[in-house]
Amino acid sequence: MINILVFSPHPDDAELCVGGTIIKHSDKYSIIIVDLSIGECSANGNNTVRQKEIDRANALLGINERICLDINDCEISSNSTEQLKKVIYTIRKYRPSIIISPYMLDNHPDHKETYKLIKSAFKKSSLNVYLDVGPVYRCKYIYYYSQDIISNNCNKLYIDITDIYDKKLLALEQYKSQFKMNMASKVTYLNKYMIQKITSKDTYNGALIGCEYAEELLYDGLMVCDNIFDYELYY
Ligand SMILES: [Zn+2]
Repeated sequence: MINILVFSPHPDDAELCVGGTIIKHSDKYSIIIVDLSIGECSANGNNTVRQKEIDRANALLGINERICLDINDCEISSNSTEQLKKVIYTIRKYRPSIIISPYMLDNHPDHKETYKLIKSAFKKSSLNVYLDVGPVYRCKYIYYYSQDIISNNCNKLYIDITDIYDKKLLALEQYKSQFKMNMASKVTYLNKYMIQKITSKDTYNGALIGCEYAEELLYDGLMVCDNIFDYELYY
């Protein structure tokens, strides 16, 4: 049984949005990142280069394993039964306590579709359907991450990542083909603005809870507890 399964439409999405959360928990909990695609439609880099970058980032994150569902980049679809079954198979195989997935408001269509696909698989893996891809399993928690600052009033959980922030940046630095510009690179939003966007967001989230850097997880359930002293609220 795996503690946390993190779904990432493309390699590097998980690191950008929850890299700090992963690093912070990977010494105590088992974590697997599931890339849906290898990101072959990216303007820069190729599959060989990207795989080396992924391997270097994995070592820094301290995760147990990283797998790829080999869905074509830019073809992630919540309408595909084949893709849905791949995700259900993964959830039933690894039996995670927590699933972390992209949120619906990211700009990239693959991210929006991944949100719908994972949310559907989260529910359906617990139902008596698609039994050819494994026995029914109910994962208890699903959280979402976003590249943007979400202004709607969904529930948010903040994780102080100040103490390991240098490691998050180091993990992101491994994706040179995506986030660094060189003479051969095509200029993209990713290599021009993405690191600035993410560090600004982490800084803003930190300021919200009185620390230097923080990541947020979104959730759409209701929080329930036996003991109201068991969690912390920041005002
Ligand atoms: Zn992406």
